[in-house]
Amino acid sequence: MSTTEKHHFQAEIQQLLDIVIHSLYTDKEIFVRELISNAADACEKLRFTQSSGQPVYQPEIAPAISITTQDDAITFTDTGVGMTHGELVENLGTIAHSGTKAFLKQLAEDKKPDAKLIGQFGVGFYSAFMAANKVTVLSRSAIPDEQGWRWISEGTGGYEIEPAGDLPRGTKITLHLKEDAKDFAKADTIEQIIKRYSGFVQFPIELNGKRL
Ligand code: ADP
Ligand code: MG
Repeated sequence: MSTTEKHHFQAEIQQLLDIVIHSLYTDKEIFVRELISNAADACEKLRFTQSSGQPVYQPEIAPAISITTQDDAITFTDTGVGMTHGELVENLGTIAHSGTKAFLKQLAEDKKPDAKLIGQFGVGFYSAFMAANKVTVLSRSAIPDEQGWRWISEGTGGYEIEPAGDLPRGTKITLHLKEDAKDFAKADTIEQIIKRYSGFVQFPIELNGKRL
């Protein structure tokens, strides 16, 4: 029996994704900044949880961010708080915590949609779909008696969630790159983008094993 669950995106999220996929052509590289910023937020939340005395899974693993490039993909890994099944569903599929409505309203008023708006409205995760035709998220919450989950989406037709067995604490997001975004699998390209946008990040960042 398969344990894969199929979910639909909430309507506004699907609308947002359709715009991200079909109408944003410039500044695609901002997805790097957005995913690193989410990874840093997750590390910060982990640190906060620990300093408030709550137990976390794998306390020996320090909060950090690593990025690896593959042939046609790029992966962002963090050892932050991770997400439970409920958090994956709520954070990566509903407008509960995001500026989706404000973003859609702003886009409706603009003649030319601008990817730069993504960061301003707190819908950064979805910028991954500017560069990817498929995104896989593996996540294991810092809550001790939780488990790992795999979230997969092609940006249209919803997403799937299934148990992912033993995972280290944190989140690993892989972008399977679109034909016109294969450049983002080049380490040099990514290093330049990280230096341009993410110099302020408070946690160590590695790119293909090299500390930046
Ligand atoms: P924002 O960062 O402004 O909240 P995003 O669209 O970038 O909006 O992310 C949505 C939510 O998804 C975040 O608030 C967070 O709860 C969750 N999330 C995204 N990436 C991660 C991650 N790497 N680790 C843990 N949670 C994450
Ligand atoms: Mg964000």
